[in-house]
Amino acid sequence: MQLHEPVTLPVAGDDARFHVRRVYCVGRNYLDHIREMKEADERDPPFFFQKPTDAIVQGGAVVPYPAATKDFQFEVELVAAIGRGGFDIPVSAAEAHIFGYAIGIDLTRRDLQRDAAKRGLPWEMGKSFDYSAPCGPIHRIGVTGPISKGTISLSVNGTVRQNGDIGQMIWNVPEIIAQLSGEYELYPGDIILTGTPAGVGPLVPGDVVDCSIERLGSLQIRIGPRRSRKN
Ligand code: MN
Repeated sequence: MQLHEPVTLPVAGDDARFHVRRVYCVGRNYLDHIREMKEADERDPPFFFQKPTDAIVQGGAVVPYPAATKDFQFEVELVAAIGRGGFDIPVSAAEAHIFGYAIGIDLTRRDLQRDAAKRGLPWEMGKSFDYSAPCGPIHRIGVTGPISKGTISLSVNGTVRQNGDIGQMIWNVPEIIAQLSGEYELYPGDIILTGTPAGVGPLVPGDVVDCSIERLGSLQIRIGPRRSRKN
């Protein structure tokens, strides 16, 4: 039997590896993205879903165009990495639980997500598939400082498609940690993708996706050939 390797992310600036426990994602967190999706009440509290930890893809990798979709989309997101766990963490204490930040992409099979939502089914098929969570190196909060504003952008083949500011988040990172930690106990190694700004759109095989967030450098992936079923 061959065991899979533990999932880790590089830590920027040193040889440490960040061992990932769980991957949480915030559903909707930028007003302009909620409006482009035309689906949610703008005053709704944040809601969460998870991706499998082994869906993490390292920066620079090729992501196979997934099976079962005709509408594979990008969503660039700020990632908060938890260094100290806790249950029901107050907003005022949340920052002390952050190990650092990274750039992530919440890859989405949009047609399956929309179909599931319409039928009252879980988002899992649309969100929690193989290779659906590319993530860059973790930058220690001691180096970056707390991140509450700064540009967040994504380009496809050199054309800018998403260009927002972290300051446009409806719920900031400490508020997200406070809310999530009241629903799930957090542990070191948990990472949280904190929602995407407007501009999401489709990808096709061969696309080169470049993301950047102020103070966190950049993250690049390439979309590989379509994985298609033979049976
Ligand atoms: Mn997202």
